[in-house]
Amino acid sequence: MVEWANSTLNPPERILMGPGPSLIPPRVYRAMSAPVLGYMDPLFHGIMDDVKSLLRRAFNTSNDMCFPISGTGSAGMETAVCNSLEPGDHAIVLINGFYGDRIAEMARRVGAEVTTVEAPWGTAFDPSVVKNALNNHRQTKVVAMVHGETSTGVVQPMDEIGKMVKEHDALLILDTVTSLTGYPLDLDGWGVDFCYSGTQKCLNAPPGLSPISISPRGIDAISQRRSPVVNWYLDVSLIMNYWDQGRAYHHTPPISMIYALREALAIAEEEGLPSRFERHARNASALQAGLEALGLELFVKDPAHRLPSLTTALVPEGVNDAQLRSALLNEYNIEIGGGQGPMAGKLWRVGLMGYSSHPRNLLALLAALHDLLNRQGFRADGPGAVAVATRVLTGG
Ligand SMILES: *Cc1c(COP(=O)(O)O)cnc(C)c1O
Repeated sequence: MVEWANSTLNPPERILMGPGPSLIPPRVYRAMSAPVLGYMDPLFHGIMDDVKSLLRRAFNTSNDMCFPISGTGSAGMETAVCNSLEPGDHAIVLINGFYGDRIAEMARRVGAEVTTVEAPWGTAFDPSVVKNALNNHRQTKVVAMVHGETSTGVVQPMDEIGKMVKEHDALLILDTVTSLTGYPLDLDGWGVDFCYSGTQKCLNAPPGLSPISISPRGIDAISQRRSPVVNWYLDVSLIMNYWDQGRAYHHTPPISMIYALREALAIAEEEGLPSRFERHARNASALQAGLEALGLELFVKDPAHRLPSLTTALVPEGVNDAQLRSALLNEYNIEIGGGQGPMAGKLWRVGLMGYSSHPRNLLALLAALHDLLNRQGFRADGPGAVAVATRVLTGG
């Protein structure tokens, strides 16, 4: 018999270096244990206003409409898709990994006509590909894409693509789930109309909210819809009435998660986004140099397209992925991610997200990998890898 009634839930403190959730700072845990306020309490409304302003700064936008959707990153994705598209509308979805595919699937379910444009996993899109797609489909209402592909570790340059989408007068949806506060964003400059993210990646709160930001053009498009949003729970025109001064009840907001988000955003604000981006870039470079010194091959060949919050390396020939990651978890208490879709069993995904992006974590991983790779007969130069990473960290 399981003695659940008399036992305390006691999960171990893992070193979370996978694709999310990431490590959570004690300050965020403490915020979550604060007393729950009612959703019509003026004190809670003050916290909501703080979250909106802090989100505006984190997203680096002048958009008034920045608030969290109650649900994980995929709920933000669904919000962007089902509020911008109606049955029969045309959408172009760019796919160079697992999450682009999910956007396309959601758009089809809304009843949109979807054209997908693909690039090989591990590469970014050439802007000319997007230009051709837009020229071939002039009726396009929405272009949707992922900024930081967590399945591959690619970050997509946005300047030129943003301009093209604007010239065609289409709306732009951008997934910043793994880039928000880990990589510079310029939503206004790129012309992003619907942007969504998640709390459990570079923000270091538990999974459960999806911060979104909608441009004035996006709000206009919503107000001109011919049909109501199919998904009542994610209908922005209804949710807005609670997040603006009207405070009209729509659904009970997850109060403790909003505390967590508030604290996570305050931590990012206190560090300063430029320092935070620099820290992510430095630690990612050290990790990447260390992995290469171990004899591993990085998946993203172009250094300019490597996402600092998520590094990918190929599982070497003859090494058992499942066995290695299970030993890493059980013996070293370290979690990293495996490959998704076509890359299952072939790829390791290492997250250095926000609070997780720290020298102590990446050095521990390099040392552990050295041991575990050697045990599987892969001759890795471990002490060399730690030394190489340390040199990058100290700017040597
Ligand atoms: C994690 C992730 C999502 C999905 O978020 P969930 O919180 O798992 O629903 C979407 N897009 C990207 C790029 C992600 O990394």
